[in-house]
Amino acid sequence: MAMTGNTPTASFLTKIGKMQSAGCRLCRIAREARGESTDGLAAVTHGHINSAGWKGMETTVTAAHHSIWRRLYDSMHATQKPKRKLKFVTLDKESNMSTLWRREEFLRICSKEDLAEKAQDIEVTIPVKKCQEARYNLDPESFFGNRFWGRRLDGVAIHKALQIGYILEFQRSTDRDEGFLEVKKAEAN
Ligand SMILES: [Zn+2]
Repeated sequence: MAMTGNTPTASFLTKIGKMQSAGCRLCRIAREARGESTDGLAAVTHGHINSAGWKGMETTVTAAHHSIWRRLYDSMHATQKPKRKLKFVTLDKESNMSTLWRREEFLRICSKEDLAEKAQDIEVTIPVKKCQEARYNLDPESFFGNRFWGRRLDGVAIHKALQIGYILEFQRSTDRDEGFLEVKKAEAN
């Protein structure tokens, strides 16, 4: 993106002794506003500046992600002729795992109960993020299940004959979520 390669970052300036700390000022302000500890702040590297994790670029990076993905998804969608095996599901803003698994085409792949069971095993291995702690503490038992059903997917393709649902995740480094692929693999088997 625009800033890469032409701005001395705090990380670089600290390295050459021109700055005392490479810790991100925007992350610090955000954490202080939430009343959280400011230990272990991310260093301001080009990677941090260009990520959705950096408050100054969050909106832009997220918008770029959605727009690029939308184009990719639409073009994959468009190449699928009626006789092709893969069907790309059109997702709207309300599509999370819970609303998808009310649809016939998803229920045919796997029942809600089976999916919940497999998802639970994986969800409990995915760490509770800082921003999720309050929700977790409120009800630790139902947290993982609720988190799973609330997950939003970037895209889904269904192979009708084989009854496999492919989860399409357009990844950037800050929203990688290993769990998805494993759930889907488990389901496919
Ligand atoms: Zn930051």
